[in-house]
Amino acid sequence: MSPEQRLHITNASVLDVERGNVTPGQSILIESGLISAVGAYSDVERQAGGAPVLDAGGKVVMPGLIDGHVHVTAATADLGAMSEWSPNYVAAHSSRLLADMLRRGFTTVRDVAGADYGLAQAVEEGLFLGPRLIFGGKALSQSGGHGDMRTPGAVTHDDHPCCPAIAVICDGDVSVRKAAREQLRTGAHHIKIMLSGGVASPTDRVDSTQFSEAEITAIVEEAEAVNRYVCGHAYTARAVNRGLRMGVRCIEHGNLIDDESIRLFVENDAYLVPTLVTYERLKQDGAEAGLPVVSQEKVDLVLYAGLEALNKANKGGVKIVFGTDLLGDMQIHQNQEFAIRGRVQSAQEVLRSATLTAAELMGLEGKVGTLSAGAYADLLILNSNPLEDIAVLADPESTIDTVIKNGEPVSAD
Ligand code: ZN
Ligand code: ZN
Repeated sequence: MSPEQRLHITNASVLDVERGNVTPGQSILIESGLISAVGAYSDVERQAGGAPVLDAGGKVVMPGLIDGHVHVTAATADLGAMSEWSPNYVAAHSSRLLADMLRRGFTTVRDVAGADYGLAQAVEEGLFLGPRLIFGGKALSQSGGHGDMRTPGAVTHDDHPCCPAIAVICDGDVSVRKAAREQLRTGAHHIKIMLSGGVASPTDRVDSTQFSEAEITAIVEEAEAVNRYVCGHAYTARAVNRGLRMGVRCIEHGNLIDDESIRLFVENDAYLVPTLVTYERLKQDGAEAGLPVVSQEKVDLVLYAGLEALNKANKGGVKIVFGTDLLGDMQIHQNQEFAIRGRVQSAQEVLRSATLTAAELMGLEGKVGTLSAGAYADLLILNSNPLEDIAVLADPESTIDTVIKNGEPVSAD
């Protein structure tokens, strides 16, 4: 939106995520891509002067959604193979994946392995249509860790920064500090580390812990030196609790946390980003995709444990952020996470995780995830009220009337 552009949205039923209510008959004035006033028509009209009017027709208007765990470069679920693709080809896919996320209502996303300053710049300059891109560059993994895609027989690993691998491999104090500094010098908003094994990596065990305590401490020190934070991939309570004790500020997944984890989250003011939809998709599509029966059983365990973990964290007062973690073609199911979370959280709690709490995690309070004056004009006009049924957001095509980013309506195709 150019500096002189203005937009006056009238007849809006404004959804307040903080209070959990909807106020009809509101006006929102947007100037230079920012919200400059929200209130009764009579109050805003004076300030709006002759600004162009968009009549919301009484529909619900809410802040644009935030997804706290995405991989916008993950054009395929085979991340090992992707590391050998042309970076230009990967960027072409990212352009499509980003635009699709925006049309699904996500006006800000936090990428936790893969996206770099170049993609963020492309969105910022309007070369790519997409959500605001909060990036961390490549994840840090130990040798044989969740970011090491080598098979047991492979010896060499190409760590060239231009290769579209989602992680760099680093071991020992000097190497982990250098890897963290390399991401930070490109403007990374956070440093992502692998604290435990995972499903996609070929040689590690899901129940392993990764990186030594000294290595984790060193990475946390590097991030905190420049006022950034470390987020860590971890499933088991052992890996989660170890990370939280070492100063990791945000845990990704956390499906198998225990009571001690809840205590540590609260004590350290740390965040949990569950990503349940990714296991739901594996459960629904896995068998058809050739997933063996034993693995399907594992998916069940992680999925149901994940819901229980979310329930436990929610009741325990942990700060919870919305996340999805879908790879490749499965990304189209991004909004299903809303319906899954609605099984254990109230609609307002889910909305909060995808707006206010996500903004707080990223240090963007008052700028995104809110419809207050001074915030970026990122908002959604909806055909139904998600406070009454959060599952409506799982169906963006029928629920979202208009997506507005930076004060500009996003075209539907
Ligand atoms: Zn992960
Ligand atoms: Zn992930």
